[in-house]
Amino acid sequence: MGAGVSGLSCGIRLLEQGHSVTIISEFISPNTVSDTAAAWWYPFLVEPINKTNKWSAETFDELVRLMNEENVDCITMRKGREYLKEKEEVPGWSEYIPHFRILNDEEIIQDYTFGWELEAPVIEMHIYMPWLMSRFKKLGGEIKIMKIENLDSVSTEVIVNCCGLGANELCNDKTVVPVRGQIIYIKQDPGFGRFDQKPDTLTYTIPRRDVTVLGGTAQVGDWTMETRDEDTQLILEKCEALWPELDRTKIVGHGVGLRPSRDEVRLESEIKNKQLIIHNYGHGGAGVTLSWGCADEVVRLIDLNMRT
Ligand SMILES: Cc1cc2nc3c(=O)[nH]c(=O)nc-3n(C[C@H](O)[C@H](O)[C@H](O)COP(=O)(O)OP(=O)(O)OC[C@H]3O[C@@H](n4cnc5c(N)ncnc54)[C@H](O)[C@@H]3O)c2cc1C
Repeated sequence: MGAGVSGLSCGIRLLEQGHSVTIISEFISPNTVSDTAAAWWYPFLVEPINKTNKWSAETFDELVRLMNEENVDCITMRKGREYLKEKEEVPGWSEYIPHFRILNDEEIIQDYTFGWELEAPVIEMHIYMPWLMSRFKKLGGEIKIMKIENLDSVSTEVIVNCCGLGANELCNDKTVVPVRGQIIYIKQDPGFGRFDQKPDTLTYTIPRRDVTVLGGTAQVGDWTMETRDEDTQLILEKCEALWPELDRTKIVGHGVGLRPSRDEVRLESEIKNKQLIIHNYGHGGAGVTLSWGCADEVVRLIDLNMRT
């Protein structure tokens, strides 16, 4: 269930393992949250860290492999600097990635006291999502466009539930809430990405080959899909503080998406009325970053349940 980055990645992995897969989804690309993702590899706004660090690291490796071995050219490696107001422990995931270093004093910008640089994949979702879809279909996967009102109405060997924010209604899981993200597209390259990843001060500039994505907002419980002028102003002011050369005349577009946030990712199996369901939703601001690691975990859970 679900044709976002989570559902498509799971579908591909399951087909590769010899399962037959049909994705049922209310919306498909370009109309999913995944299509709006900025998207930089970064475990943002997602828990539990002990698991998400592992899934993120596995996804990092797979994205690099797709780029190097399968020439998926909408994935590029870019350097980014994250600035922090206060010194803190380096994140656990830093040990898994090849380029990570603490910034020198002279590299820290005004109003910040600490920071680090990493090199990580940037994924151009408007190309990557159709690529995932075509890989899924080439492997024999089928897609049915329809809304599921009740999981009990689906009867199959295994349901893999990748419905993102849809879980709020479908699973009556009120812990899944939207965290609204507004973004701006600008035709100007900052050289390296600049980030403040604290939810209250969230700021990012993510350079893609075509545009740079500027953000952001992290508005909890806000379902508004229209862009708001006050958010645009706020994003620009925050980005200019990290990137003073930003040229507002080069803005070419705007976007909004609702991150499917949850206190922690729900990746577990459930047997309901004898139906095996593997839930895989609630990836917050890191669904792309976790996609392949979670898909592999889904396959492991299915294998485990089918053996017992
Ligand atoms: C502005 C913004 C920037 C972001 N930047 C990044 C980033 O840089 N890096 C990163 O890793 N992540 C980023 N994210 C987060 C990322 O977009 C999400 O975590 C990810 O897209 C979630 O993917 P998903 O497949 O789980 O959900 P979705 O993409 O929302 O897909 C859910 C699917 O389920 C279907 N569905 C739901 N309910 C039903 C139902 N009842 N019946 C049938 N189908 C149903 C939907 O139609 C859809 O196809 C960003 C998000 C936003 C909004």
